[in-house]
Amino acid sequence: MAKKTYDTPKIDELESGPWPSFVTGMKRLAEDKPMIRGVLGQLEHSYNDRKGYWKGGTVGVYGYGGGVIPRFTELKNESGDPMFPEAAEFHTVRIMPSAGMHYDTKTLRELCKVWDKYGSGLVAMHGQTGDIMFQGIDAENLQQCFDEMNEMGFDLGGAGPAVRTGMSCVGAARCEHSCCNEQRIHRMLVNAFLDDLHRPSLPYKFKFKVSGCANDCMNSIERADMAVIGTWRDAIQADQEEVKAFVKDKGRKYVVDNVVTRCPTNALSLNDDDTLDIDNRSCVRCMHCINVMTKALSPGKEKGVTVLVGGKRTLKIGDLFGTVVVPFLRMEKDEDYDRLLEIAQEIVDFFAENALEHERVGEMIERIGLVNFLEGVGLEVDPNMVRHPRTISYVLTHDWDEEAEKWHRRKQMESETGSAS
Ligand code: SF4
Repeated sequence: MAKKTYDTPKIDELESGPWPSFVTGMKRLAEDKPMIRGVLGQLEHSYNDRKGYWKGGTVGVYGYGGGVIPRFTELKNESGDPMFPEAAEFHTVRIMPSAGMHYDTKTLRELCKVWDKYGSGLVAMHGQTGDIMFQGIDAENLQQCFDEMNEMGFDLGGAGPAVRTGMSCVGAARCEHSCCNEQRIHRMLVNAFLDDLHRPSLPYKFKFKVSGCANDCMNSIERADMAVIGTWRDAIQADQEEVKAFVKDKGRKYVVDNVVTRCPTNALSLNDDDTLDIDNRSCVRCMHCINVMTKALSPGKEKGVTVLVGGKRTLKIGDLFGTVVVPFLRMEKDEDYDRLLEIAQEIVDFFAENALEHERVGEMIERIGLVNFLEGVGLEVDPNMVRHPRTISYVLTHDWDEEAEKWHRRKQMESETGSAS
């Protein structure tokens, strides 16, 4: 039987540019997958009308309250039948990737084989949710497809008002900047909140992301309700011989223009003998100098994490960056991991009880105030939480001395006991 294809002149245009186009890939898939032919037809229709024609609904697998994004076509002909019947249903299965997104080829082949058997063949690795997005399956094949992936050890990701699939960067396995065990933190958080992930019961979504250093490959500052970012609190490790070799290779002007003057806190200066002075008390651990002089500079030895809360993309009040709530937490012993989990639990519980419906943590903090949030989750105020120095001099300062004294006492205790944060 001849394959039914649809005219797609607008979509075809997208193949004419200099870059590879998703259209070419979809056309290749359409050879064997009628669903993709229907999707291309519907997409052309959308391009003409400048309107999307997918609507949601309820589709899922047994035992899970989320993880599948239902998509039904809205395009119907006069008799009420779908205009592109092959794409009447086009659901997405969200599958949680392994922490750090480490796969072996065999596993990827197996996943593709299952998806080819039941779904459209279209895969996105990975969405901003962190999941592997298997796009295009009908309800009839969904359960079997998931069961086979589940047999391989993969689980559904999160969707809806729930804890979402966590994300962690590739980490120490392949990156010398790593300051923490990203995969362990990621696994710990996901395992602890699995129930909240599969059974949506929060006011809105809640995302954990773990980056091993301030380069923040997971975009956790902008995207995570709770971001865990590796950092250090002693001095940057500097190999002055390598600094000299770098200066010799690139020249003093290059080093001054691209390293020294680009330090956001003026913590660097180049000496006459081509060595580098680092004012570690001024350094804000931004990673810039280390990124440029990878052989000469590396993070310090006393490593741990900073915890930020409230990052998110646009919604009610626009994009928000995370706010530091724990400046430094050493991550060496089991107790340190327990402490991090405790903080996460406090934050999720407080969010569950106090956020309005469809409100992210960052928005809740804006509404109730950071001080109330910190009090609610039992975290002490710290000068590192100041986002921007005050620009107005008319401020009430009562209680400030008390807070400052409390902070000094805490810091002194920490330095005596060697504990962190
Ligand atoms: Fe400056 Fe950033 Fe390097 Fe610290 S890490 S010395 S703040 S460039």
